[in-house]
Amino acid sequence: MNKTFFLGVAASVALSGSALCGEALRPPAMHVLPDGAIQARAWLRHQLELQRDGLTGHAEELYDDIGNSDWLTGAGRGGQYAWERGPYYAKGLVALALALDDAALKAKAKRWVDAILASQRPNGDFGPRERNWWANMIALWLVRDWCAATDDPRVPPFLERYFAFQAQELQRYTLVDESKWAMARGADELDVVLWLHARTGKRELEAFARLLSGQIADWSTFYHRGGDPSKAGCRSHIVNFMQGIKAPPLQWRVNGDPRHRNAYAAAFAPDGWIMTSYGRPDRMVNGSEPLSSRNASEATELCAIAERILSNLVALSTWGDASIGDDLETVAYNTLPATLGADGRGMRYYNILNLPYCVDGRYGFVNNGEKVGSLCPGPHSGFGCCRSNFHFAWPKFVQSLWMQTADGGLAATAYGPCTVTAVAGGTQVTVEETGSYPFGPDVKLTFRAGAATFPLKLRIPGWCRAPRVTVNGAAVADVKPGSFCTVARAWKPGDEVALHFPMEVTVSGGWDRDAAVVTRGPLLYALKLAYEDKVVESYEVPFEKRTAGDLNGFPRREIRAAEPWNHALVLNARGGIDAEVVTREIPLHPFDPAAAPVSLKVKTFRSDFGGWGHTRDILTARAVEPPPSPIAIEGDVQTRELVPMGATQVRIVLFPWARESDK
Ligand SMILES: [Zn+2]
Repeated sequence: MNKTFFLGVAASVALSGSALCGEALRPPAMHVLPDGAIQARAWLRHQLELQRDGLTGHAEELYDDIGNSDWLTGAGRGGQYAWERGPYYAKGLVALALALDDAALKAKAKRWVDAILASQRPNGDFGPRERNWWANMIALWLVRDWCAATDDPRVPPFLERYFAFQAQELQRYTLVDESKWAMARGADELDVVLWLHARTGKRELEAFARLLSGQIADWSTFYHRGGDPSKAGCRSHIVNFMQGIKAPPLQWRVNGDPRHRNAYAAAFAPDGWIMTSYGRPDRMVNGSEPLSSRNASEATELCAIAERILSNLVALSTWGDASIGDDLETVAYNTLPATLGADGRGMRYYNILNLPYCVDGRYGFVNNGEKVGSLCPGPHSGFGCCRSNFHFAWPKFVQSLWMQTADGGLAATAYGPCTVTAVAGGTQVTVEETGSYPFGPDVKLTFRAGAATFPLKLRIPGWCRAPRVTVNGAAVADVKPGSFCTVARAWKPGDEVALHFPMEVTVSGGWDRDAAVVTRGPLLYALKLAYEDKVVESYEVPFEKRTAGDLNGFPRREIRAAEPWNHALVLNARGGIDAEVVTREIPLHPFDPAAAPVSLKVKTFRSDFGGWGHTRDILTARAVEPPPSPIAIEGDVQTRELVPMGATQVRIVLFPWARESDK
């Protein structure tokens, strides 16, 4: 044991007044599998391949502050070169390389891991700047992920030396002394500390976890009680807000405080202070970048979307609540693809639900409001955080699909086509997952290798009213929406589990100005609009680094609806919606607007009521909000197509509406 380390931690515990140092850390309900244990298949794998061939695979050439980062070169250029951007990208690169098991990407990722490990100084600190608490947290996360998948023996001692250094330094130079970011985002480091503790069992890590936990922003109080967001400082920043969602579960593991246990539910309760003020039907929260409003033309940030996915991975593994998996799917299958360019070569800084125009115009946001292309898909859009940070979103969603349960079983925590290989019941098993979900109601699990007895836990989505599960054709009893269904038995290759989640087309009002949203299963549906797509700028990869697929470069686009978008929904007399569901075979890229595998034919009419269909007077790029519903039907009722929100580049998601009888 490092004696200095132990003394330092003991002193800190005494200073902080914590009386809990004897209490054991709580284990998570489920264990996250290493990146790569779950291999995405079919269209889900294609999302990763688009990144490999697009922005992630070429980021080092496209962005000088990444390709020539001080983290790699040690050149001491400072600024962004020494801060978050390099590690942000490398965190996504490591996850993508492992998720695809791609040799070239893994070699690239290892270069970053090697550079980070080699930068450690004799005192345990590392990286291009001294005591760079926040940026170092990202680097810790990625070397941990690398080690979890590859068992790289250099990583645990590297982490131990750094945590020993911090155990002393954090007493005189705390997280917030370095930055508000470090205080707000400290749970990212706590996750790594708890991982190392689970691996080594070292007592000093437990004490260090308590010290660190005590310096993280008080997210649980914020999510529960709220108050005036203008006085909440860093906590009202939308990226911090979503990153902070990790804090309550990890702090609950440290001290068992029931306030932490309820904080996730408080943050996202439909009638809670956050969702009623800033909430969206895609389970995101608007912030541009401070928490803003529920307006249909307000925005949330791509970093916040990615962080929401990763925070849900942590919260879901900690507590095993099925509803956290529901939210995870909603964000990954709707908001994420709707924010990325359809070709893998562009991303947007912001996501807006009612978005007829992606132009470099006036949206009126507090940050990144204009002249930075925040809604234009391309390699540069808004401030440089999102183009550096978004890379982990799809790979980490894939990692969220399956987890190991605390009782030695396996859990299907989110659904998508994949193959998982993991130890369950003491034996390595392989399960293949196929089916139409989330575009259709079916998931099929086929055991491919390994025979063992263990509990298989299946997440039953909360939105599904009549779920059915069969094992080798025999129905499973007690399948309840919004919970995990457990099937404990001896499993062997050839066993099949069929899950059927009937998807009703549902319309729900109550959003801003009582606007309505149409859902079917985990997907939100948006008005399909013809659009004009104009390349306004192109960032070419240097010629000598091109491969055949690069010839189109990396354009920045402006996209505009090419037809009127001021549609309102016609609801039936019961307040529901009559829709014809049209399904097609799921293509390789179901989020390509030209290839959506499912559409809903619904009745709409066009209305100019309240200026609907126009842009605002001053904020000339921003759609007017839907008029307060219900409105009266005017003109001809038409049949229009709604498609999954994730398959739209311009869209209307929040609609005004009228009842059929209101003609
Ligand atoms: Zn960002």
